[in-house]
Amino acid sequence: MFEYTPYVLPFIFSTAILTYLCVYSFGLRKQIETAREFSWLTFTLTIWTVCYALELVSTTLDGKIFWAMMKYLGSAPGPAAWFVFSLYYTNNQKWFTAPKRWVLGIYVLVTIAIVFTNPLHHWYWTEITMVDGYPETQSEHGFYFWVYAVGTYLLILSSVVIYVRHYFRVSSFFRKPAVLMVLGGFLPLAARIPEDFLGLDLIPKLDNIIVFLLVSAIIFFIAISRFNALKILPIAHELIVKNINSGILVLNTTGYVVEINPYAQSLIGSESINAIGKPLEVVLKDWPKLDYSPQLKKQLEQEVLLSHNNTSNFFLVQISPILNKRDISIGHVIVLVDITDRKHAEMELERLARTDVLTEVTNRRHFFELAEIEYERFKRYGHPLTIMLLDVDHFKQVNDNFGHLAGDHVLKHIASECRKALRVTDIFARYGGEEFICLLVEANQEAALETAERIRKNIESSMLEFDGQKIRVTVSIGQIFAQNNTDLKLDNLIDQADKALYVSKSNGRNQVTVWK
Ligand code: GH3
Ligand code: MG
Ligand code: MG
Repeated sequence: MFEYTPYVLPFIFSTAILTYLCVYSFGLRKQIETAREFSWLTFTLTIWTVCYALELVSTTLDGKIFWAMMKYLGSAPGPAAWFVFSLYYTNNQKWFTAPKRWVLGIYVLVTIAIVFTNPLHHWYWTEITMVDGYPETQSEHGFYFWVYAVGTYLLILSSVVIYVRHYFRVSSFFRKPAVLMVLGGFLPLAARIPEDFLGLDLIPKLDNIIVFLLVSAIIFFIAISRFNALKILPIAHELIVKNINSGILVLNTTGYVVEINPYAQSLIGSESINAIGKPLEVVLKDWPKLDYSPQLKKQLEQEVLLSHNNTSNFFLVQISPILNKRDISIGHVIVLVDITDRKHAEMELERLARTDVLTEVTNRRHFFELAEIEYERFKRYGHPLTIMLLDVDHFKQVNDNFGHLAGDHVLKHIASECRKALRVTDIFARYGGEEFICLLVEANQEAALETAERIRKNIESSMLEFDGQKIRVTVSIGQIFAQNNTDLKLDNLIDQADKALYVSKSNGRNQVTVWK
């Protein structure tokens, strides 16, 4: 039935590679659309080589004829699958409409049907014989053989045209795999041309197409393993560049825009419509200046605030050089990421870190940050400075009599009364439980005392309502007025204000004491 011949060896090898590619791409079919088409292609090529190998090792004419027919289960859909794959690979699948699918499908089915019914009409083969020393059958061809040959040439030539157009459209990164894909698809066809048109048989005793399918398989394998041709597809590139929520601009060495994606256009506005071929400064003319030089050799990051139609947006601008193999910059990629939400969240966090949760005035930690700066200014320019400490009188009783929530309400009220009486430039903060601190700037001693008195009186005279209960509170205040001839540090000044506060307390509360 079967007999080993060394001619079969290359086909065992190519079957192994094609099967591997078929299984590998089949596994990727869910993630990558082209993987499904590539899997189909390699599947048909696998059938083709397997059946051809079986034809070679068959010993009887009937056996060889049987496998020669079976071969068409792969070789009839093979060129069609190759053509379909080229459409998908180059993102032209829209062209492949339903009627075209039908035409191609019917052509494949009719070819298989005619090959399998050949003994009835001899449209494909008129005669099949075995020749001694030749492992494959020799045949005379009927008219349909030529239909099939023309169909195959057309499909493969169309694929080559599709790839060549693709080659000139994609960026250079995708060109190498594109060349390999063209070679892989075109070689088997090219191998048939001398035989079909010139009567030259390159590899006597074997079908040239089949031999070159092995080379194709290896080329596909390289394209896929070296370049990840299926994974990093030009389509993915297109999709990413077009749909990503980041602006992308590509500059050449002279700083002219050579590519811009739709998102960047929407960010930049009207200036970007004909951006290609213009210098970056012209395209981004309303933007704050990007601080980079075209000679830049490493990535730079910069945050930019853009105000546009009453809204402000923050952008992270990343400028990276595109380096060639010899590390020479051949251009730049600029990525613009909208970080407005993140920025707002950060600003809110910063605000919260500075603010007292209950009263929403500055907290103690931030008070010291601001007060130190003010103190430095006071030392340097000699402007007057007052520290004032305020403590609620018998606050424990407020909590005890009216409840903790009422106490909270009182603290909020006192904070707001103080804020009302102070200037925006004064630094006012919650110092501790029911104590507040204030640093008054640029106020002379009388004005500072007046402010303290006003606060004390306003609080004393205000009647608070909480949960139907009427609450009255008073506060004690201690003040220290400092002139620039003092050696005292900020902490010492606060200590003295505290001593003044203690005096107010021990003298009967609800009063202001100025430390002398
Ligand atoms: P004095 O007139 O001597 O200052 O008496 P006082 O009761 O105000 O002083 P004391 O320091 O004994 O009590 C302060 C009270 O303030 C105790 C504490 O429970 C209360 N307190 C501190 N922080 C808060 C707060 O955030 N909310 C409320 N409701 N009470 C607080
Ligand atoms: Mg206290
Ligand atoms: Mg108190």
